[in-house]
Amino acid sequence: MLPLSERAQGLYDQLVDFMDQHVYPNETVYAEQHAASEDRWTPPPILKELKQKARAAGLWNLFLPESDLGAGLSNYDYAHLCEVMGRVAFAPQVFNCAAPDTGNMEVLARYGSPEQQEQWLKPLLAGEIRSCFSMTEPAVASSDATNICTEIKRDGDDYVINGRKWWSSGAMSSDCKIAIVMGKTDPNAPRHQQQSQILVPLDTPGVRIERALHVFGYDHAPKGHAEIVYDNVRVPASNLILGEGRGFEIAQGRLGPGRIHHCMRTIGLAERALEAMCQRVEAREAFGRKLSQFDSIRKDIARSRLEIEQARLMTLKAAHMMDTVGNKVARQEIAMIKVIAPEMALKVVDRAIQVHGALGVCQDTFLASAWANLRTLRLADGPDEVHLDTIAKLELGRYR
Ligand SMILES: Cc1cc2nc3c(=O)[nH]c(=O)nc-3n(C[C@H](O)[C@H](O)[C@H](O)COP(=O)(O)OP(=O)(O)OC[C@H]3O[C@@H](n4cnc5c(N)ncnc54)[C@H](O)[C@@H]3O)c2cc1C
Repeated sequence: MLPLSERAQGLYDQLVDFMDQHVYPNETVYAEQHAASEDRWTPPPILKELKQKARAAGLWNLFLPESDLGAGLSNYDYAHLCEVMGRVAFAPQVFNCAAPDTGNMEVLARYGSPEQQEQWLKPLLAGEIRSCFSMTEPAVASSDATNICTEIKRDGDDYVINGRKWWSSGAMSSDCKIAIVMGKTDPNAPRHQQQSQILVPLDTPGVRIERALHVFGYDHAPKGHAEIVYDNVRVPASNLILGEGRGFEIAQGRLGPGRIHHCMRTIGLAERALEAMCQRVEAREAFGRKLSQFDSIRKDIARSRLEIEQARLMTLKAAHMMDTVGNKVARQEIAMIKVIAPEMALKVVDRAIQVHGALGVCQDTFLASAWANLRTLRLADGPDEVHLDTIAKLELGRYR
C-alpha cells in the first residue's frame, strides 16, 4: 500500500483524534437530543457544536480532490479519511463531508457560474445550508438516467419545471435550501443531450414536499429522503448549470469521486462492526465457553478480516487509478468496488448482528441501522446489475 502524503497523514491523525475525543463520546448525546426534539427534521444542537469544533480544528471540507476550495487531497489520500468518518453515521456532516452535499458542491465548484457559486456554493462550503439532488422519479427506471422525464422548459427569462421526484436525500431537513434538479430541456435531442440540471431553491412557489420515504422503517431523520412535486416551478434561466443538454455529462462527473467516498465509508463501518463482533464474543459465554472459542464464530471473524482487507485494497487501487490515469480508465475498478464494498460490508455486519443475538437487531447498537443503510447502497449508488454489466462489457471488450 502506498504511504499517505505528509499533509494527508497529518489530517488523518488529527481526524482519528477528533473522532475519539468528540464524535464517539457524543453518539448517545446526538441520539438523545434528536429523540427529545419536537422537530425530527432539525439537526440536534450537538451537531452544530461539533461542526464548529471541527472547522476550528481545520477538519473541514476534506473532500474536493485536488481543489483549493477543499483540503486539496488526492482521491487516494481522501479515501483513508472517509474510512474514519464512515464509522459513525453522522460523522461526515461534522466535517462538512456528507452526501449529497459533497457531490453537489463538486458540481457547483466544477460547473457552476460565478453567481451560482457565490449564492449556493459559498454557504454550502461554510456548512450553513444543505442541499439535495433530485434526479430519481417514481414513474421511470431511474438507474438509466436517460429515462428521467421531468420537464424543464424555457419561458422568456425563466425555466418552468414540472415533474415528480422521489428519494431526494436530505430534502426533509430544515437546513436543506437548494435542490439540483435533473430534467429534460429537449426531448427531441440525441439521447444523452436531452437532460439538463438546474438549481431550484426549495422555497420557490410550486415546490411541494409530499412525504418522507422510509428505509426498512428508518426515516433517516433529520436528513430524510423526500418525494417532491415540482408544479410549474419558475426559476431564472441563469439557474441552469453549465448549459442545456449538459445534464448527463454533469451527472457522470458528479458520480466519479463520490464512488470512492461511499466505498471507503462502508469499509470504516465494516471495521467497526468487526470490532463490535470481537468485543462481544470475548465478553459473552454460552454452553460453558466464551463465544470466541466456537469454531464457527472464529471462522466468521477470520472471513470478515479477509473480506475487509480485500475490499479496502481494491478501493484504494481504484482511488489511486483515478488519481493517476483518470476516472475513465479506472471505470472497471470503480464499478468493481461499487459491487464489492457494500456486499462485503453487508456480510460483515450481518455476522456481527448474529453474534449479538437479539441485541443485534434492536436499536441498542448501531448494527441494525447500519445494515439497513448498507443495503440501500446496492441500489442508491446505481444497482449492482448496472455495475456488473459495465465490468462484463469492459472485460469482453478485450476479446473483440
Ligand atoms: C436510500 C436511498 C437514497 C437515495 N438518494 C437519492 C438521491 O439523493 N437523489 C436521487 O435522485 N436518487 C436517490 N436514490 C435513488 C436511486 O438513485 C435509485 O433508486 C437508483 O438509481 C435505481 O433507480 P430505480 O429505483 O428507479 O430502479 P430501476 O431503475 O427501476 O431498477 C430496478 C431494478 O432493475 C434492475 N436493473 C436495472 N438496470 C439493470 C441492468 N442494466 N441490468 C440488469 N438489471 C437491471 C436492477 O435489479 C434494479 O435494482 C436513492 C435511493 C435510496 C434507496
